[in-house]
Amino acid sequence: MAKPPFAGETPSGETHKDLPEGEQRPGNVLVQCPHCSRFLWVSQNQIGKKIRCRYCYEWFTVPPPS
Ligand SMILES: [Zn+2]
Repeated sequence: MAKPPFAGETPSGETHKDLPEGEQRPGNVLVQCPHCSRFLWVSQNQIGKKIRCRYCYEWFTVPPPS
């Protein structure tokens, strides 16, 4: 059974098909890797800290939500 399209809930409002999973997670935030432009779920307590992208393995700082 196909899931309905994931629309209007992403921070950028687009590229929903790149989301790891089509749902929101309480306590987690969705960030976009500046290196490979993929989206990652990270814990809110990782905001402002450096994390490693699970896709391209590059490090970047999690930006605060706008
Ligand atoms: Zn990446």
